[in-house]
Amino acid sequence: MLRREFVKYLTAGAAGQFILPMAGANAASTLNVFIIGGGMAGATAAKYLRVWAKRLAIDSLVSVTIIDKSDNYVSNIMSNMVLTGEKTLTSLTYSYANLKTKYGVNFIKGTVNRVDLENGWIYGQINNTGPTDIVMNATPFNRLVLAAGISLDYSTFTLNVPAQVYANPYDAVPHAWQAGAQTTLLRNQLVNLKAGNHVAITIPAGPYRCPPGPYERACVIADWLRVKKPGSKLYLIDPSQTADGRPPVEPNNFGHAFTNIHRNLVYVQNAKLTDLTASLSGATKLKTLSIAPVNGTPGNAINALSAATALTVEVANVIPKMQAADLTRSILATGGLDADSRWAVVDEKSYKSPVSGVYVIGDSIKSANQPKAGHIGNQQAKVCADAILREFSNVALYDAPVTNSACFTPVTTALNRQYGARASWLTATFRYGLDTDNSYRMLKVSTNIESPGAPSKDNFESMKKWFTSLMQDVYS
Ligand SMILES: Cc1cc2nc3c(=O)[nH]c(=O)nc-3n(C[C@H](O)[C@H](O)[C@H](O)COP(=O)(O)OP(=O)(O)OC[C@H]3O[C@@H](n4cnc5c(N)ncnc54)[C@H](O)[C@@H]3O)c2cc1C
Repeated sequence: MLRREFVKYLTAGAAGQFILPMAGANAASTLNVFIIGGGMAGATAAKYLRVWAKRLAIDSLVSVTIIDKSDNYVSNIMSNMVLTGEKTLTSLTYSYANLKTKYGVNFIKGTVNRVDLENGWIYGQINNTGPTDIVMNATPFNRLVLAAGISLDYSTFTLNVPAQVYANPYDAVPHAWQAGAQTTLLRNQLVNLKAGNHVAITIPAGPYRCPPGPYERACVIADWLRVKKPGSKLYLIDPSQTADGRPPVEPNNFGHAFTNIHRNLVYVQNAKLTDLTASLSGATKLKTLSIAPVNGTPGNAINALSAATALTVEVANVIPKMQAADLTRSILATGGLDADSRWAVVDEKSYKSPVSGVYVIGDSIKSANQPKAGHIGNQQAKVCADAILREFSNVALYDAPVTNSACFTPVTTALNRQYGARASWLTATFRYGLDTDNSYRMLKVSTNIESPGAPSKDNFESMKKWFTSLMQDVYS
């Protein structure tokens, strides 16, 4: 294996993909790869397919096209800081211009509705206007990469929202888990909150996108509330239950922050939302949440609330249960999904689906160990791009791909007089290998490593560098 090449191609956020040897390149055919979804995973795959094809001098044989609903990508990463006014959505928006001009990636703006796998045609609405079921690709694909992220499932609770409170009932429960309009909606509700009224964040049952995300959000909103909305509390409703009552994710970091920094944060474990009813109190829109224990016994509340009770707040940030994007689930319905039909199954050596000619990367996949994270999606995309080029060139797949994940988390904001803006971090590394059940998958080769409990200013500076280099690796 070309170890030297590994070092050469190690980019910000990349852990271990190897560019294949040139000798096997097959000049007799061409690759026409269509990637649905130009987010963290899809955009990375497109870029590296073209970069590595050029490196192998086969770029004239490798056409790569992204189709995405939007011609700009808004990063979820760092979007919690938009809620506190420390960042803007504009500063988190990335265009596909570099992918087009620097690497020769083709781009089609539009929403995909269905795919004809047998003949290589993609159907949908170009530019999100006009007919909704027309062929979007001029030439049929011979490889399809699904990188369409997640869809949201609201079936786990009942939502009662009278039309006089909100015309769109879902405006009562902004998720802000796909950055953009939802982030603005939640930000505006927070800004308009009457001081002394409360906020709730509900965490879904896993697996969900960005395991530390809800705890990070709780920290920065609690910090913001303390300064901007005196008397307001943040209730964090968590279905998990741990023996020591600390969060299941980054227990040292978040346990420290919840106990020592954010006294206005009420953390409730073993608790799930069963019903949310919106009402008006004068002009104020209130939400009453019915909370029930997950395991039948009362929640292990660190501070005040016990489970099996109702809670009335003004802002309800309900993060719903997640599953692979609806499109991904419909394309893979015949043999490409897990037993619950929620997530795509893949061989993590190549991200190949059991459905022929299809690869799936990013948050849509079921993985025993890798988290649903942008950094990981970026890594999976490189493994997948490498595998597609190897296969095309009749070269054996690399047998032990490695991915890693680093996650930095803002814990306090610049508003905090005592601490200023501080962050924590978590890393993990994974390698493909044989698991104890005799199946091959990505195994965690380093356990999660957390920064020491108290967040630091240095970590906050490192977070900015990490984010910049990760996003450059995807879109620059
Ligand atoms: C608040 C928050 C904080 C986070 N913080 C971090 C962090 O610190 N570190 C980290 O690593 N990760 C973080 N994440 C997670 C990270 O954002 C996701 O894991 C990552 O975006 C997943 O990448 P993806 O490519 O699978 O999906 P996405 O990035 O969501 O991209 C999917 C793309 O598919 C497109 N698409 C979907 N359906 C269609 C269709 N039918 N037709 C056309 N296009 C379609 C969408 O428009 C989108 O551009 C965070 C997430 C949140 C919500």
